[in-house]
Amino acid sequence: MPSPVIGITTNYGKNPDGLPSVYLLRAYVRAIQEAGGLPILLPSDLADSEWEIVYARLDGILFSGGGDIALEHFDGSPHPRVCEVDPMRDALELALARRAAGEGKPFLGICRGCQLINVALGGTLFTHLYDQLPGALDHAYPGNMRQVLVHPVQLKPDGRLAHIVGTDRLMVNSLHHQGLKDLAPGILPLAWAPDGLVEAVEYPGHPFGLAVQWHPEWLTDQQETRRLFKAFIDAALESPR
Ligand code: MN
Repeated sequence: MPSPVIGITTNYGKNPDGLPSVYLLRAYVRAIQEAGGLPILLPSDLADSEWEIVYARLDGILFSGGGDIALEHFDGSPHPRVCEVDPMRDALELALARRAAGEGKPFLGICRGCQLINVALGGTLFTHLYDQLPGALDHAYPGNMRQVLVHPVQLKPDGRLAHIVGTDRLMVNSLHHQGLKDLAPGILPLAWAPDGLVEAVEYPGHPFGLAVQWHPEWLTDQQETRRLFKAFIDAALESPR
């Protein structure tokens, strides 16, 4: 059986020589490969007529981590810590997410990807958790702590995520300074940090529409995390395109 083709959204940045580059941390690619998927990187500068051609060939979409989403997309509060906004990436991902949600194309959102799904479907974000969520934990651990488990998440008992990973409590990494505020209509929460922040959501009634605020691609040594990626790939295998 051919591997399902998983499109992964990417960042723009500069290589060590200062040249404009498309990039994606390899952990995303590896996680998809290890779960049996065939990863394809999606550059953000695709015209509508182009991404629709690519979209039609994908069995699933992984919305990866990255910079902050522009405030205009969710009427967010300006904050000096809002950073790395990329209008081109926002535009592509919002269009892909709305399409994938509406058409039943399996998708997995990670970190920014979780926030993106919520915004795409009409939700809002805390633009800097520490100043806006009373009693917020520290969620913004530095990048060298990607494999360090820093806070628990309580999963909704009998929820879809708990069912997939086989437990209702996980320890996770945390590399975000923003978070979900008002959930989009029709989005269900599936997991919470101890400060009440929603850390995973589901688009119910969809073959596979899940998003998590942490970074499972760095935690594939956990059996529970491998089950999450496997469930995504299994759903993509079933996708009719
Ligand atoms: Mn967190």
